[in-house]
Amino acid sequence: MAHMTSETPAPLTLHGLSVEGVNQCVHCGLCLASCPTFAELGTEMDSPRGRIFLIKSLAEARIGLSDSTVQHLSLCLDCRACETVCPAGVPYGRLIEAAKAEIERQRPGGPLRRAFRWVNFDLLLRHPRMLRLAGAGLRFYQASGLQTLVRKSGLVRVLPGTLPAWESLLPPLPAAAARAPLAAFTPAEGARRGRVAMLTGCVQSVVFGAHNRATARVLAKNGWDVSAPTGQGCCGALNAHGGDHRRAVEMARRTIEAFEGERVEAVIVNTSGCGAHMKGYGVLLADDPAWAERARRFSAGVRDVAEFLATAPLRGPLAPVPLTVTYHDPCHVVHGQKIRSAPRALLAQIPGLRVVDLPESDWCCGSAGIYNLTQPEMAGRLLQRKVRHVLGTGAAAVVTANPGCILQIQQGLRAAGSPVAVLHIVEILDRLYGHDSA
Ligand code: SF4
Ligand code: SF4
Repeated sequence: MAHMTSETPAPLTLHGLSVEGVNQCVHCGLCLASCPTFAELGTEMDSPRGRIFLIKSLAEARIGLSDSTVQHLSLCLDCRACETVCPAGVPYGRLIEAAKAEIERQRPGGPLRRAFRWVNFDLLLRHPRMLRLAGAGLRFYQASGLQTLVRKSGLVRVLPGTLPAWESLLPPLPAAAARAPLAAFTPAEGARRGRVAMLTGCVQSVVFGAHNRATARVLAKNGWDVSAPTGQGCCGALNAHGGDHRRAVEMARRTIEAFEGERVEAVIVNTSGCGAHMKGYGVLLADDPAWAERARRFSAGVRDVAEFLATAPLRGPLAPVPLTVTYHDPCHVVHGQKIRSAPRALLAQIPGLRVVDLPESDWCCGSAGIYNLTQPEMAGRLLQRKVRHVLGTGAAAVVTANPGCILQIQQGLRAAGSPVAVLHIVEILDRLYGHDSA
């Protein structure tokens, strides 16, 4: 057992979180070519290696949080493409989350920004009822014609802070029936394979309830009883990515509590950021003796929906889906969870479907949680790059697996005047069984 001596350096931390992983970096630079911000800017401090240097220097108190350090770190997408190619296993995602938490502590911003974060992180994400209420309000804003009026009158441009960007990215809110919570239980069809539980998500359940229903139907068609525990809420991924570590821990504990009474084969997640984050609860709560083992056990049972379904052939009969599509890898599926072949294996089973390769399919589209709101310029550059590649494929639809990517790519294609559709993979799978949620 190692003993701390006067020569033993103190563990490197930021905001109380370990950033010891910075010492694994051997400065080889193999990650540089995979980093979208380095590709766009070409500056070392906007590369993974440069940011690791900054995080190490901060943790060793050799530098302070200057404006330029904040800017280089904030420009990071947390896409984790650098982790995928790093031969030294640097846990980059954990490092940048610690750095972002430290930035939030030292630079909370003015009253408007703090109020905005409180509304989102404390009020809406922590209280599903409040989120549903906000969903109803936004639906009224859009369906009543108020949104058109605000946009046409130019009123939107005089809104303070990042509100104009938020407004322009508002997804169309579905009618009340589609915003209703997923049924607590969906029974398996045909020969029963077992039981799974589903994360229904926070924003996901209000904006993309159709994806949740499609997920439950496809799982049921494949022999799985699907439960949707009623006590669940937000998993805390948006808080963790936004530097709100304290709330992220609280929400992780609440999520574990909501699911651990379920006797299921797996906890199924259809939103990539949530899946990657929940698989990391074991690390997030590792230093908490009361929760470490519960978190580790919970994380071991989390599965992305495509990862789970691809473990067995899809059950027939399968209706043909005559469409040419291309697949965009969400960062937190391909880099955060290392799932690359499963979605493609599922698409390959669909009769009539033609899949064409998307260049740079595993490059971030610029959505990255709330990055498209906090860093609109870089997000816009990456979106244009993605749209250019999508249009070059000639596909009629982009298939992906994350609500943020769907909204971002939809917005880019709309701006380019393109009719190309953007679909969640469960929507395509649902069509195999006669449902079209579009
Ligand atoms: S690939 Fe890994 S070890 Fe090499 S510079 Fe990048 S983070 Fe460091
Ligand atoms: S997480 Fe993405 S944007 Fe950030 S350093 Fe790594 S590759 Fe670059």
